[in-house]
This record gives sequence, structure tokens and C-alpha cells, in this order.
Amino acid sequence: MYDEVRQTDPEIAEVLDLELARQRNQLEMIASENFTSRAVMETMGSTLTNKYAEGYPKKRYYGGCEYVDMAETLAKKRAMALFGAERANVQPHSGSTANMTAYLAFLKPGDKIMGLSLSHGGHLTHGHPVNFSGILFDAIHYEVDKDTETINYDRLREQALAERPKMIVGGASAYPRFWDYEILRSVADEIDAVLVFDMAHIAGLVAGGVHPSPVPHCDVVTSTTHKTLRGPRGGLVLSRKDHFKAINKMNFPGIQGGPLMHVIAAKAVCFQECMADSFKTYARQMVDNAATLGETLLERGFHLVSGGTDNHLLLVNVSNKGLTGKAMEELLEHVGITANKNTVPFDQESPFVTSGIRLGTPALTTRGMGTEEMRLIGDIIDRAVQNREDDAALTKLQAESHELCRKFPLYPGM
Ligand SMILES: *Cc1c(COP(=O)(O)O)cnc(C)c1O
Repeated sequence: MYDEVRQTDPEIAEVLDLELARQRNQLEMIASENFTSRAVMETMGSTLTNKYAEGYPKKRYYGGCEYVDMAETLAKKRAMALFGAERANVQPHSGSTANMTAYLAFLKPGDKIMGLSLSHGGHLTHGHPVNFSGILFDAIHYEVDKDTETINYDRLREQALAERPKMIVGGASAYPRFWDYEILRSVADEIDAVLVFDMAHIAGLVAGGVHPSPVPHCDVVTSTTHKTLRGPRGGLVLSRKDHFKAINKMNFPGIQGGPLMHVIAAKAVCFQECMADSFKTYARQMVDNAATLGETLLERGFHLVSGGTDNHLLLVNVSNKGLTGKAMEELLEHVGITANKNTVPFDQESPFVTSGIRLGTPALTTRGMGTEEMRLIGDIIDRAVQNREDDAALTKLQAESHELCRKFPLYPGM
């Protein structure tokens, strides 16, 4: 592996080796990460990276696009079939530019937009002041309920009626529950707002049929392709027929330049993989694994935000264990588990410290781990918290994590 780069650039070859070893030897529980297939990676490493193809299939600003056109057409067709969408734009370089495309296709700077607050599980691109979405638009936010820690739809409706945003954005990065699309739709209709749903986190669950689909209810659905979908790093916009022209025009030439044709071809490979029965099994397993990990942690006195999970992730408030999110992240790293600290709703700590940890099952499930392994990992997490002052105990737990990694080899042929 990496023969060429080893010859020409040993320093970068070393980085590639170290990163592969890191991915193999730790339990990857960052909820937004996954391991793509070798086919997806091969396609990303192909000659398609050399091609300029500004425009869309059959309407390009450059010659020589006949083969990349085939790739993009396949990617679009497969995305539409996979999600039952009327139209698909597969060019967004990332989830963020997919959202920018959707927003600017409908809104002018200064228009009002309403999304889930970042500190309640939303994403930066849903109107946070440091992000383009908060800089360009007049952003307001809905939140979760303090008692149930699930979205307070009554309050959302009141806010929407009072503030009359031009767009409502659903979706989240750290929300473990199903969404009520019917309510979002009816609120949007009441105030004549555009309804956008950002399914970046749950797209793979939707594709695998284990999470309700936002597509029939929304004007536009945006996504990443590298999280639960397990494809290349990139974005996707699905829309109804009537919005498609505006979306296309805004993505290019509005926002982006030349599309990443190697990534678009890899998206096509990913969408094909997602249509296989084995992907449905994978999606079901992600959810079963998260449920089992959640039960294991609940039994051991951990506080799960919203009390549990419907999807692939858990948000754990560790303050009752005498820890901050930051300390928990470091502790888990110490025992071979990679995860990220995360604010919890109504967090008293700063975003750099936080009271929570976000745990996801997509990557471990790709390695082949099941509910038995989730029980073991839940136990490792609990014992790490209990023995956090005991270096010998933590070293032993790290060895248990490494053993688990060895039992489920990653990229064995590499
Ligand atoms: C990850 C994520 C994004 C952004 O994706 P990038 O590819 O990192 O730009 C947008 N929205 C949500 C809800 C996400 O979880």
C-alpha cells in the first residue's frame, strides 16, 4: 500500500501509515465518522481528480467531460432512487456547502432562518453567529424541552408564528431521537416558510430503512455522504422538481467552482453500496448497537440525554459522575476509545469544557461489532470512570480495547 508515495514522499507516507494504524488500534466512537469501502477509496484516488467539469452533465464549460458525465449521472440517479427524491445535486463539496446551497437558493442576506440551537444538538450551519449561516441571515433558534430533553414542538410553533422565519431547518449533529416531520411541515405551511431538513447524521439510517425519511415532507433535504452513509467526504442536496433549477444555479456558479469528479464518482459507488441488502443489515445493526450501549450505560448510572436513543448516537451527560465532557474525552482516549466532548442542553460548562460526551456506533458497526461488543464497551467506559485515578487499571482497560480491535480487523488487506 502507498508504494508510490513511499518512494516520492516518505514523510507523508509515514503519516498515512500512522493514521491507518491509529484507525485500526482504537475504538472509533465519533458519531460522525465511519470507514469507507476500499471501492470508495479507490475511486477517490483515481484519475477523475484531474478533470475540470464546471457545470452539469451535458452542460459543461470544459471539453472531455463525457466520462465524468457518466459518473455524475449515475450518482444522481442512484441518490434519487436511494432516497425516493425527485432531484439530486451531488456536487456539494461538504455538508456545509450543501446547506449554503439550500439556504441561498431561497433566501437573501438578512432573511430570517430558524434552526435547532447548537447547544441543544444543532449544527453550526443552522444559524450559529460564527458561521456563514449566522453571519448572512437573521438566525433564531428552537430548543429542546428542559424535562424531556427532546424538541419542544409546541414552543417551536409559538416561536415560528411570532417570528415568521422564511426558512425552518430541521436536523442535528447531536440529537438521539426521531424527528416529527409532520409537525415541522405544518408549522412551515402555517407561516409559508421553506422547510429544509439536514439529515447529515442520519442519512445512512434513512437509506437503510431504520429511520423515517424526511424526503416526502420537505422542500429540500441536505446531507453529508461520509457519516452513516459511509461514502466519500462530501455533500448532497435532494429537492423537489420545482426547486431544482434554483438549487443547481446556487451550487454552481453561485457557491462552488469545479466539482470534485473523483468524489462524485465515489458518491455513486457509495449510493450503490447503500442499496444492497447488506447495507440494510448494517443500518439496523448501528441502531441496535446504540440501543444496547445506551441500556448498558443506563444500568451503570449514566445520564443519557433524552433518556435513550432512536438512532446511531448517544449523548451522555457525565456531570453526575463528577466529570466534565473534556475530562471524559481524555479519559476515554486513555483507554483506547475515541469520542468527542459535546455540550448538553442547558449546559453550565463552556463549549471547550462541556458536560457531555457524544458516542456513535457507525464506525464500530462497520468493523463488524455487534451488541455483545457494545456491552463490553459500555463496561469498559464504566470501569474507566470508576478507576480514573488508577493508572494500572486504565492500562488494563486499554489492553481490552486493543484486544477488541484485533478481533475486528480494519482494512485487513492494506
Ligand atoms: C456534519 C454536519 C454538517 C457539515 O458537514 P461538513 O461536511 O463537515 O461540512 C452539516 N450539518 C449537520 C447536521 C452535520 O452533522
